[in-house]
Amino acid sequence: MTVKSNPVCLSSRKDAERVVELFDNFLLDCDGVIWLSETLIEGVADFLRYLQLHKKNIAFVTNNSSKSRQSYVEKFRFLGIHGIEKEQIYTTGYSAVLELRKMGIHPGSKIWVLGDSGIEDELADEGYIALGGSNPLLDQPWNPKNPLLKVDPEVKAVIAGSTNDFNFMRITTTLQYLVYDNKKIPYIGTNGDRNYPGPDGLTLPAGGSIVEYMSYCSNRPYIDVGKPSKTFADVIFYDTNFDRSKSIMIGDTLSSDIKFGNDADLGNGHGTMLVLSGVTTINELEQLISPGSSSSHLHKAQGQDQALIPQFFVDSLTKFYNLLQS
Ligand SMILES: [Mg+2]
Repeated sequence: MTVKSNPVCLSSRKDAERVVELFDNFLLDCDGVIWLSETLIEGVADFLRYLQLHKKNIAFVTNNSSKSRQSYVEKFRFLGIHGIEKEQIYTTGYSAVLELRKMGIHPGSKIWVLGDSGIEDELADEGYIALGGSNPLLDQPWNPKNPLLKVDPEVKAVIAGSTNDFNFMRITTTLQYLVYDNKKIPYIGTNGDRNYPGPDGLTLPAGGSIVEYMSYCSNRPYIDVGKPSKTFADVIFYDTNFDRSKSIMIGDTLSSDIKFGNDADLGNGHGTMLVLSGVTTINELEQLISPGSSSSHLHKAQGQDQALIPQFFVDSLTKFYNLLQS
């Protein structure tokens, strides 16, 4: 990768308008960008309306697999944002289903799930049969006689993602499928994220912690279908037909959102924007650009960190919208 220039801080109406002019397609992360948990970030509804008025395409790209696309439509509506269609939403549960299709695993096949209902709902939506997942037999204490420990030989793939119900029964049942038949059943992980910000300042384990846990105990890698993987980008751009050179990814996480946009070559390598309304602080951005320095001057980053450097950054979408209105 070529050495990237320092990120541009949006600080004037001219800066903000330039970004809107440069891109036709806006890919937006949700947690930390649109909302914080169940609270809409102020001004986001106005910002989305502004993009719609200017005939921009909008897609939401989230590593969260716990909710289905339909649940996201309902969440947007509940938070007062209307007119968002299911087809504009890309969750990693949906990405996992598209990956099954790409592998030639047809609807009607049985898929073992370790994760919340979002994955089961997406599978059902596309005609797959989800096993495991929210089955109440998996909520029971450890019992080696639990019938779900016996592998169903018709299972064609395993999908793992985030869940609040990660217990020993779920671990051991999933492990049986991962090691079955010399580990031949494909193992799909919804993302590699370590943690995410929860309510009251808590740090919560993200899907990647569960996916990696199962990877460790089965001693096999997984197919990553979340950000920043190329697999997820390919699925989205195939599905939307968006021109990558006219697309920008806006997100709050350097290692998933910004790396995703840079690795997918959005905006010819210039289609990324970091918002500081989520997990990344301005200090972290400065450290990336100028490792080991506490100075506020931004300098060029080295080596592999290049893919983490955004083209633009701004406090929040609130600030972005206010600049457009200033
Ligand atoms: Mg986020």
